[in-house]
Amino acid sequence: MRILCGQVITPDEVIDRAVITIDDGKVIGVGPADGSPVDIDAPDKTAAPGFIDIHIHGAAGHEVTDGTVEAIRGMSAHIAANGVTSWLPTVLTNPWPTVRTAVSSIAQAMQEGSGGAEVLGAHLEGPYLNPSKTGAQPPDSLRPPLCGELARELGDLTSIVKYIAVACELPGAMDLIRELVSMGINVSIAHTEASYEEAQLAFDAGATSLTHIFNAMRPLHHREPGVLGAALHDDRVITELIWDNFHVHEAVARLVVKVKGPDRVALISDSVSACGLSDGNYFLGGQQIRVEGGLARLMNGTIAGSTITLDQAVRNAAKYFPIQDVIKMATIAPARSTGAADRKGRIAPSFDADIVLLNPGLSVDTVFLKGKIFKK
Ligand SMILES: [Zn+2]
Repeated sequence: MRILCGQVITPDEVIDRAVITIDDGKVIGVGPADGSPVDIDAPDKTAAPGFIDIHIHGAAGHEVTDGTVEAIRGMSAHIAANGVTSWLPTVLTNPWPTVRTAVSSIAQAMQEGSGGAEVLGAHLEGPYLNPSKTGAQPPDSLRPPLCGELARELGDLTSIVKYIAVACELPGAMDLIRELVSMGINVSIAHTEASYEEAQLAFDAGATSLTHIFNAMRPLHHREPGVLGAALHDDRVITELIWDNFHVHEAVARLVVKVKGPDRVALISDSVSACGLSDGNYFLGGQQIRVEGGLARLMNGTIAGSTITLDQAVRNAAKYFPIQDVIKMATIAPARSTGAADRKGRIAPSFDADIVLLNPGLSVDTVFLKGKIFKK
């Protein structure tokens, strides 16, 4: 199949009037149109790699902690319609049996098909988080860091886990980080009171991400820069950013991108089950939440995830940065945290033909999953 678009963002470069050639689910070529016939002629569309959302708890009335493959498939279909072509279902802190059931449903969707955006693995947000920075994580199920526990609790399902959030200042956390990194799991510092020095040690131990920057962590102080100062400085670190103009003020979001560069900022939704639905009362990992004006909070007022899909974050960021940079934040930066950067996040030969065609206002027009047009 050959698709002609007005602009193709690879995202290493932007090619005007370019043709993407796809065969057997893979991109086999991309370059300027040469007048040869095409199957899809979309001169007013911009083609970008499909978006990759590495932090999602729920959407379209489903939650990852529902623990069913139907929930994972319902979410996969909803986010695919909004330009997300692969994702990491994200498990809230919960008792181990609940986590195990959720990871099992994720594994089933990976093996048998998700019916939408490809599931790349599981993201566990906890349970090794600081009790003083729980945010919307259920506090009763937090655990002190303990080497060996993950493999003991999940058994064969351990290999499904690609990403885990850890508060690095907790006793035993540095050994745990080293163990998780040796297992090939991406470690993200999260829900944390870590000092600058503690965060530096965690990054030296192999942690490579910071979960939803500025949220659920010690603030930046000019005499104690804390985990934020360490993560903003360190080129080894990718920072997750919820760009919904609520979790982080847009002025601060712009600062993050200026300091880190678009290669090291991963836009995330952190969405909950109310994503795609109207205001009202919902649940988040067993806790009741209220959504008003699209903003989700626990009943005590604590912010409880977002209701956006990643295309909205892309549009918010595109008000301030060139589209090529914004696409990096939704594609190659998150791909690096999933273990799939060699086949996802770029429109390039040998990469999966996961492609989104965008209208001039950056709304999503058409989504291709491994070369096939996605229809909900
Ligand atoms: Zn989260």
